Amino acid sequence: MAKRKLTLQQQRRIRLQQDRSRAQADNGGGRVASGPPESGLGSEQTGVVAVRYADSADVVGPEGAVRRCHFRANLDSLIAGDRVAWRDGEPWGVITAVQPRKNHLDRPDNRGKLRPVAANIDRIAIVLAPQPQPHANLIDRYLVASEAQGMESILVLNKCDMKVTQDLEQLLDAYAQLDYPLLIVSAKTGAGITQLAASLKHKTGVLVGQSGVGKSSLINALIPDAHTQTGPLSTKLTPAASPSSDSQQGHVHHFAKGTHTTSSSQLFRLPGGGGLIDSPGIREFGLWHLHAEQVAAGFVEFRPLLGHCKFRDCQHDGEPECALIAAVKVGAVRAERLASYHSIVAELNAH
Ligand code: GDP
Ligand code: ZN
Repeated sequence: MAKRKLTLQQQRRIRLQQDRSRAQADNGGGRVASGPPESGLGSEQTGVVAVRYADSADVVGPEGAVRRCHFRANLDSLIAGDRVAWRDGEPWGVITAVQPRKNHLDRPDNRGKLRPVAANIDRIAIVLAPQPQPHANLIDRYLVASEAQGMESILVLNKCDMKVTQDLEQLLDAYAQLDYPLLIVSAKTGAGITQLAASLKHKTGVLVGQSGVGKSSLINALIPDAHTQTGPLSTKLTPAASPSSDSQQGHVHHFAKGTHTTSSSQLFRLPGGGGLIDSPGIREFGLWHLHAEQVAAGFVEFRPLLGHCKFRDCQHDGEPECALIAAVKVGAVRAERLASYHSIVAELNAH
């Protein structure tokens, strides 16, 4: 089994290399971005970038079919999720224009500069599980980042086939009280997967959460043909491929470093329409480009209180007549959320 997998992976790599050298030959060995001659191209249509490669991109057309496309030099910043206009052609199509992004998720590149890796995200599904035990603080981080980008967040409790402790129930309750929807699922038994699929239908979503909570397993459950959808990540999505997949360590190996893409994000198409964008960068997307005010506003229950502290520059850290501390005292804000806020701000200041 493992051998066969490797072979498929090799084939894909070879194909990518062939594509690339063919593209370079088409273009006299130079950059592909200027594209092939315009003659013989179909009429303009809309599409979404599924995978961005160095010199080309896979575009999902209106019918759901994927076509490899060149793009104009001025479109060099294309990433998965970008909505584009494109024209089909042989052997490749051409992307002619890109719509402004409504939002994007960034990750630091290897020089520490933030780069967008996924565009136009509607919904973030924060995945947690009884094991590994959830860190409330990490959930808050994801929520703040998603609020700041105007994305909807839902919580997904995976592994509901396992015992749910009282602590976990309380934690879930606290987020339900903040009106974040909660879905209870199991990638293993299939429980709740239909509901999760319905909640992502016709949307562009991402799954985030600690390593080991079951994100890969959920993608495989939601998108049974994920491994056949072209792209750099598809062969690495099967948890069963890792002999140590039951241990925490095993998960690191789902994604090999040094893929052929600049961003290595991939939009997986959901059977009912819409898609999920996945990449290692998305899973660990950071917060350190936010301002403290954005962080405070990312805590939904703080919003009506902001601006009501005695001091305009209140740090909500022991100052007199602080509206947030007062709210904690009367039980309107959970102390853990304020503590999360402080730890996030402290981390921002450290950068
Ligand atoms: P990821 O790191 O978040 O992508 O997590 P994986 O999808 O690799 O899953 C981590 C481990 O949890 C694997 O051993 C999976 O088989 C297991 N797992 C995933 N979903 C479930 C589930 O619903 N129930 C149980 N019991 N185990 C699961
Ligand atoms: Zn305050």
